[in-house]
Amino acid sequence: MHSKEILKNHGIRLTEVRQKVLQLFLESPEALSNEDIEKSVKNLDRITLYRTLKTFEEKGIIHKIPNSGNSPMYAVCQDNCTEHHHLDSHGHFHCLDCGKTVCMDHTDVPTIIVPKGYTVEQKHLILEGKCDACS
Ligand SMILES: [Zn+2]
Ligand SMILES: [Zn+2]
Ligand SMILES: [Zn+2]
Repeated sequence: MHSKEILKNHGIRLTEVRQKVLQLFLESPEALSNEDIEKSVKNLDRITLYRTLKTFEEKGIIHKIPNSGNSPMYAVCQDNCTEHHHLDSHGHFHCLDCGKTVCMDHTDVPTIIVPKGYTVEQKHLILEGKCDACS
Protein backbone atom coordinates (compact mmCIF):
# COMPACT_ATOMS: atom_id res chain seq x y z
CA MET A 1 0.00 0.00 0.00
CA HIS A 2 1.14 3.52 -0.72
CA SER A 3 2.11 5.78 2.19
CA LYS A 4 -0.55 8.36 1.29
CA GLU A 5 -3.25 5.72 1.44
CA ILE A 6 -2.03 4.35 4.76
CA LEU A 7 -2.05 7.81 6.35
CA LYS A 8 -5.54 8.40 5.03
CA ASN A 9 -6.81 5.03 6.26
CA HIS A 10 -5.52 5.76 9.74
CA GLY A 11 -7.03 9.23 9.80
CA ILE A 12 -3.69 11.04 9.84
CA ARG A 13 -3.38 14.38 8.11
CA LEU A 14 -0.96 14.20 5.22
CA THR A 15 2.26 16.17 5.59
CA GLU A 16 5.47 15.88 3.64
CA VAL A 17 7.45 14.70 6.68
CA ARG A 18 4.89 12.05 7.63
CA GLN A 19 4.81 10.77 4.10
CA LYS A 20 8.62 10.65 3.83
CA VAL A 21 9.08 8.91 7.17
CA LEU A 22 6.38 6.34 6.42
CA GLN A 23 7.81 5.71 2.96
CA LEU A 24 11.17 4.98 4.58
CA PHE A 25 9.55 2.41 6.88
CA LEU A 26 7.73 0.77 3.98
CA GLU A 27 10.95 0.42 2.00
CA SER A 28 13.09 -0.83 4.87
CA PRO A 29 13.40 -4.58 5.43
CA GLU A 30 14.57 -3.95 9.00
CA ALA A 31 13.53 -1.85 11.96
CA LEU A 32 14.67 1.79 12.09
CA SER A 33 16.03 3.93 14.91
CA ASN A 34 15.67 7.70 15.23
CA GLU A 35 19.20 8.07 13.90
CA ASP A 36 18.46 5.93 10.85
CA ILE A 37 15.51 8.15 10.00
CA GLU A 38 17.42 11.39 10.63
CA LYS A 39 20.13 10.20 8.25
CA SER A 40 17.67 9.46 5.45
CA VAL A 41 15.17 12.30 5.72
CA LYS A 42 16.82 15.66 5.21
CA ASN A 43 15.93 18.75 7.26
CA LEU A 44 14.01 16.81 9.83
CA ASP A 45 14.13 18.27 13.33
CA ARG A 46 14.07 15.99 16.35
CA ILE A 47 10.80 17.22 17.79
CA THR A 48 8.95 16.71 14.52
CA LEU A 49 10.42 13.24 14.20
CA TYR A 50 9.54 12.39 17.79
CA ARG A 51 5.94 13.53 17.25
CA THR A 52 5.67 11.72 13.94
CA LEU A 53 6.81 8.42 15.46
CA LYS A 54 4.48 8.89 18.42
CA THR A 55 1.52 9.52 16.11
CA PHE A 56 2.35 6.51 13.95
CA GLU A 57 2.70 4.35 17.04
CA GLU A 58 -0.58 5.55 18.56
CA LYS A 59 -2.44 5.03 15.31
CA GLY A 60 -1.21 1.47 14.89
CA ILE A 61 1.10 2.00 11.91
CA ILE A 62 4.43 1.21 13.57
CA HIS A 63 5.44 -0.57 16.78
CA LYS A 64 8.30 0.19 19.11
CA ILE A 65 10.93 -2.47 19.77
CA PRO A 66 12.91 -1.97 22.95
CA ASN A 67 16.45 -3.34 23.22
CA SER A 68 19.37 -3.28 25.62
CA GLY A 69 21.00 -0.39 23.74
CA ASN A 70 20.12 3.29 24.06
CA SER A 71 17.74 3.78 21.20
CA PRO A 72 14.53 1.85 20.64
CA MET A 73 13.75 0.73 17.11
CA TYR A 74 10.51 0.96 15.18
CA ALA A 75 9.01 -1.30 12.54
CA VAL A 76 5.87 -1.27 10.41
CA CYS A 77 2.96 -3.24 11.86
CA GLN A 78 1.78 -6.24 9.87
CA ASP A 79 -0.92 -7.47 12.16
CA ASN A 80 -3.85 -5.17 11.42
CA CYS A 81 -3.09 -2.98 14.38
CA THR A 82 -5.53 -0.18 15.07
CA GLU A 83 -5.49 3.02 17.07
CA HIS A 84 -4.22 2.39 20.61
CA HIS A 85 -4.45 -1.33 20.02
CA HIS A 86 -1.36 -3.15 18.82
CA LEU A 87 -1.66 -6.80 17.90
CA ASP A 88 2.00 -7.44 17.14
CA SER A 89 2.65 -10.63 19.04
CA HIS A 90 5.83 -11.61 17.20
CA GLY A 91 9.37 -11.73 18.51
CA HIS A 92 12.29 -9.56 17.42
CA PHE A 93 15.97 -10.18 16.83
CA HIS A 94 18.48 -7.47 17.69
CA CYS A 95 22.07 -7.86 16.49
CA LEU A 96 24.49 -6.70 19.17
CA ASP A 97 27.26 -6.13 16.61
CA CYS A 98 25.66 -4.07 13.84
CA GLY A 99 22.47 -3.01 15.65
CA LYS A 100 20.18 -4.45 13.00
CA THR A 101 16.73 -5.37 14.33
CA VAL A 102 14.20 -7.47 12.45
CA CYS A 103 10.66 -8.63 13.12
CA MET A 104 10.32 -12.40 13.34
CA ASP A 105 6.85 -12.64 11.92
CA HIS A 106 6.44 -16.36 12.42
CA THR A 107 7.49 -16.46 16.05
CA ASP A 108 4.65 -16.18 18.49
CA VAL A 109 5.43 -14.89 21.93
CA PRO A 110 4.66 -17.71 24.39
CA THR A 111 1.93 -17.31 26.95
CA ILE A 112 3.47 -16.51 30.30
CA ILE A 113 1.59 -16.93 33.55
CA VAL A 114 1.66 -13.74 35.57
CA PRO A 115 0.87 -13.41 39.30
CA LYS A 116 -2.79 -13.16 40.31
CA GLY A 117 -4.20 -9.68 39.79
CA TYR A 118 -1.59 -8.69 37.20
CA THR A 119 -2.71 -7.67 33.72
CA VAL A 120 -0.44 -7.92 30.69
CA GLU A 121 -0.82 -5.03 28.27
CA GLN A 122 2.21 -5.61 26.10
CA LYS A 123 4.52 -8.52 25.45
CA HIS A 124 8.02 -8.14 24.10
CA LEU A 125 10.18 -11.04 23.04
CA ILE A 126 13.62 -9.75 22.12
CA LEU A 127 16.40 -12.07 21.12
CA GLU A 128 19.86 -10.52 21.07
CA GLY A 129 22.93 -11.94 19.40
CA LYS A 130 24.60 -11.88 15.99
CA CYS A 131 22.79 -11.56 12.67
CA ASP A 132 23.71 -13.62 9.62
CA ALA A 133 26.11 -10.96 8.33
CA CYS A 134 27.95 -10.68 11.69
CA SER A 135 28.12 -14.36 12.63
ZN1 LIG B 1 1.30 -2.84 15.88
ZN1 LIG C 1 24.74 -7.84 12.64
ZN1 LIG D 1 7.97 -6.28 14.86
